[in-house]
Amino acid sequence: MTPLLEVSGLRAGYGQINVLWDVDLTVEEGKTTVIVGPNGAGKTTLLRTLMGLVYASAGSMTLHGQTLKGGKTWDIVERGMVMIPEGRMVFPDMSVLDNLMMGAYPRAGRADWETRLERVFAMFPRLKERRGQMAGLMSGGEAQMLAMGRGLMENPQVLLIDEPSLGLAPVIVDEIFTILADLKAQGLTIVLVEQNTSRALHLADHVYLMRSGKTILSQPAAEVDLGHLHDLYFARDG
Ligand code: ATP
Repeated sequence: MTPLLEVSGLRAGYGQINVLWDVDLTVEEGKTTVIVGPNGAGKTTLLRTLMGLVYASAGSMTLHGQTLKGGKTWDIVERGMVMIPEGRMVFPDMSVLDNLMMGAYPRAGRADWETRLERVFAMFPRLKERRGQMAGLMSGGEAQMLAMGRGLMENPQVLLIDEPSLGLAPVIVDEIFTILADLKAQGLTIVLVEQNTSRALHLADHVYLMRSGKTILSQPAAEVDLGHLHDLYFARDG
């Protein structure tokens, strides 16, 4: 079976600076793939390259067997891949509801948006309570939930999530991981970038470790030895 998402020998970067060096990644439909790695390893750059936000200078990347290279971000969203960026990028001067509705504009999100909005509200009751509030007034945890809710309004088949737990209180992190587990149980394909390795491993079917712009470990989650993973994670370069 063709993997849902397949990346091979991917190189990408910013202007003259190359960040990704021959990255390989295979994401199976309905599975949760977790990418861990130290700061600056290139995890965010990888997600941004998949979404057409960073130029891929070499290698291949396909979604459903069709190339993503040269694709425009809006088109990639239409094709079913949605990214929830790091840092809870919500529109601060818009209400919670309007932020969510921004996710209903891409074609994929337009049909059945009312049903999806109800589903998002059921998943995140706080968003329903606060639907008239300006998004800029929300707490960090609420803003992360809003960013996730907006992504879900786009009706994704593949959800790329960048460090959803960053800087949040443990109780909120619990909530976010519970929601990710629910989404997984519903069959959504998830690619999760996360520094909270042990939490992410519980959710993962497959794990990649990135260092210095390369995928240096690829393993089914059940086979991962956390001690070995940490040794590779914290090893000195050179
Ligand atoms: P973190 O966990 O800290 O977010 P990361 O693994 O997601 O790290 P990236 O954010 O992808 O890593 O960064 C990889 C490298 O690319 C870093 O050296 C970073 O300085 C560089 N980089 C990221 N964004 C840009 C940019 N817009 N222009 C130039 N260099 C950038």
